[in-house]
Amino acid sequence: MTGLPSNPDPQATTRTAGTAIATAIALAVLLLVDLIAVVVLPRPITLRGPGALADVIPELQHFVEHARGLRFHHNVDIRLSNDLGALNTGLSEGTGAGAADAAASQSAVLRALGMVDERYNEKAAAQSLNSQVLGVYQPRTHRLMVRPGPITARLRITLVHELTHALDGEHHQLVRKTKSIRPDESGTSFRALAEGDAMWVESRYRATLSAADQAGATAADGPAPTGIPDALLLLAAYPYAAGRAFIEELVKQDGTDAVDRAFDHPPITSEQILHVDRYLGHDRPRVVVKPVPEGRVVQRGVFGELLLRLMLSRSLGADPARRAGTGWGGGRYVAWRSGTSVCVRGTLVMDTAADTDELVAALRQWATSRPRARVTPSPGRSVMFDNCVDA
Ligand SMILES: [Zn+2]
Repeated sequence: MTGLPSNPDPQATTRTAGTAIATAIALAVLLLVDLIAVVVLPRPITLRGPGALADVIPELQHFVEHARGLRFHHNVDIRLSNDLGALNTGLSEGTGAGAADAAASQSAVLRALGMVDERYNEKAAAQSLNSQVLGVYQPRTHRLMVRPGPITARLRITLVHELTHALDGEHHQLVRKTKSIRPDESGTSFRALAEGDAMWVESRYRATLSAADQAGATAADGPAPTGIPDALLLLAAYPYAAGRAFIEELVKQDGTDAVDRAFDHPPITSEQILHVDRYLGHDRPRVVVKPVPEGRVVQRGVFGELLLRLMLSRSLGADPARRAGTGWGGGRYVAWRSGTSVCVRGTLVMDTAADTDELVAALRQWATSRPRARVTPSPGRSVMFDNCVDA
């Protein structure tokens, strides 16, 4: 999979899987660039007949409308497909002659950051995640696809999730064409908003089910995907888990109107998703001087609080990494190839001098087990780090 999109015609999609972690197709957003899809549509299958999906849709639509305080104005085009994972494969493989090279560079960048080790196999990881996709909503066509099967609690939960995307798609612009290909966090933050809303409604629906149905749905989710490093699982789960917490906080403060306002004025950084007060306080990221590469650039972009947290968590543990990332003011990174190495350099600016000291100490701890890593405090509450690994 490639970090940077290779297809110029973005078709944003939003997906659901059984659990927050399993939902993740977002592995391709490793450096926080949203997914670009080339979608081959499966043939439509009739939904009519006894016990068919069509029988349960009205009730589920009604639930979603009530939870969100919005109405459907159009029929959602619902189709069945056994091959939702295949929709992902096209996304994550990348295309063109440079795809293999880009994928190798991406793995090396993740190793340089310390998020994965040499055993990481991104193809196997992508397959493991793809196998967990249960539903897909395509904002551009207002079409929803789910795996066929008996009408179980798990399928109803999936439909509620996807119908929430569909309802949001009627009332708000979900296809954010230009923003989704920017190498910053605006696309990922928008995904967290959309997935967070669907997860929030889904969780409310789940709570209305009997204990037996809830247990059945959880069992049907199955185990989390295997062979994926923790940092990448957390990254993949981020739009769902952090997005849901963000929505819950908005609703607590001002009901679902606050969610609609957020779609009109979306969060733009992971800092705003992770700390809703930063979003409500209109906290903008600070301008950061771009770090200078020393070879052929393979990736560059914004280095957000989320990535900082994930980078540090494997060396420091989750809580110290979260504390070190708090106070993020802005950040950028660049990765380049130099001989047989891939190197990454990041510049981070923190809100206060104390935040900066805390981050420098955390980065130095991160660097201790990495012989080629350097940490350089710089003027203006900023700090630079770099590291290289063999590609
Ligand atoms: Zn979703």
